[in-house]
Amino acid sequence: NGVSPFLDPGPHTKANSLAILQLSRDNLLPVYLKPLTGEHDGYAEGAVVNTRYGSFPHSTMLNVPWGSQIRASKVDTGSRGRKRKREDGDDAFREATGASEKDNEDLATAVTGDSAAAVKQAVADTSGFIHVLPPTPELWTTSLPHRTQVVYTPDYSYILHRIRARPGSVLIEAGAGSGSFTHAAVRAVYNGYPAEGERKGKVFSFEFHEQRYHKMKQELSDHGLDELVQLTHRDVYNGGFAVDGKSPEADAVFLDLPAPWEALPHLSRRRPASSHVNGSATGNEQTDWVSPLNPNKSVYLCTFSPCIEQVTRTVSAMRRLGWVDIDMVEIANRKLHTSRERVGLNLNFDRGVNNSAHDVEEAITRLAEIEARFREHAAKPRDGDEEMDSADEAAEPAGQNSAATNGGTPAEATSGTAPWMEGRLITRGEPEIKTHTSYLVFAVLPREWTEEDEAAAAVKFPVGK
Ligand code: SAM
Repeated sequence: NGVSPFLDPGPHTKANSLAILQLSRDNLLPVYLKPLTGEHDGYAEGAVVNTRYGSFPHSTMLNVPWGSQIRASKVDTGSRGRKRKREDGDDAFREATGASEKDNEDLATAVTGDSAAAVKQAVADTSGFIHVLPPTPELWTTSLPHRTQVVYTPDYSYILHRIRARPGSVLIEAGAGSGSFTHAAVRAVYNGYPAEGERKGKVFSFEFHEQRYHKMKQELSDHGLDELVQLTHRDVYNGGFAVDGKSPEADAVFLDLPAPWEALPHLSRRRPASSHVNGSATGNEQTDWVSPLNPNKSVYLCTFSPCIEQVTRTVSAMRRLGWVDIDMVEIANRKLHTSRERVGLNLNFDRGVNNSAHDVEEAITRLAEIEARFREHAAKPRDGDEEMDSADEAAEPAGQNSAATNGGTPAEATSGTAPWMEGRLITRGEPEIKTHTSYLVFAVLPREWTEEDEAAAAVKFPVGK
């Protein structure tokens, strides 16, 4: 229907459209699903995604409901294994994105003793399926090829809310970078086919790095977003924000630039000092200056800077240029990892020093018991879930940045309960240093209020009558 899959993916996967394959919890792979015709590098099954979890021919992922679980191909993968394609689910993906190998390493460490055979067995045991997900800005942010630092979901969701991006808004962003913010912004302003007199939501995006500009241009076209995002190759410090001599009439602005104070003079209602209007590095000098802002509304702005010194300069420029309601926010988003520690299972050996044969035997016996109980539970109907829910409700989340325990019971006391309920609940926060992304500075530029506006208002809303 021509609408971007990011805005309306429809109920099913489609040929030649973007899908996000979830290989494991944090390991996502963007793939354009190819039909079973044409060039397939000689594979009978057509294009194939090879991963450590198995081989997945595109043909098995086409025309299925989004969210489907896809089983690995049963066809011998030997030849495919030798002839790995660029879209390989691990190596090429990591090469493109710098994503961590940790998930797959977790498989290896799940095995006590890491002989090649044991690791292979662990992989075989846990391999076999992936999920095929529709593209969303959140999944794209996690899986996109990084060309720069990007804005992540916790930051952009708050930013878009604060700058009042809503269906029908017109938003300016600079620089475009890897397009993470752009995808979230375009979804926020998208309003389909607006009614007569309504504005169409749109993002005006600017990027001065030539290769990034071309890459992003291609991506926007591949994602069906090129009508809703107008990307311009420009140094905004010199060239400002008008496009083809016209004002975008923006309601909201987001600046992810090293020196936002250099761009701010252009985000004015009046022509800035001449030093800011000339000498564009990309030949976009503006002789007839126009304000890029919506003249009929207050404009909401956010700048995104990692250092406090940048914040100070930005705030100072904002104050000089008439921005009001200036404030700064830092989003301290923290992931909490929660797991159970089986205190009754002594697997914390002293790395070969004081481990008696008795310790080892005890651990093996305990493992066998747990395995047996897992099998027993797997065979039972699923009403065990209720037990898990109520026990988890009783357990409160604990403090951050250090391991904390609560709510659980030692394994010995819980025999007869589900094995996954054994042990104390351990919650670990991420170290604080990992969570600092940037400082968000928000400000508002009120609309101009002229004598004519005042006179018109006096007629429309007479005081005291
Ligand atoms: N917000 C982006 C995202 O979420 O993917 C990341 C932006 S990245 C940190 C900053 C970008 O600003 C870089 O791509 C850089 O080339 C661009 N940039 C820096 N100075 C610029 C300027 N004067 N005009 C336009 N773009 C600029």
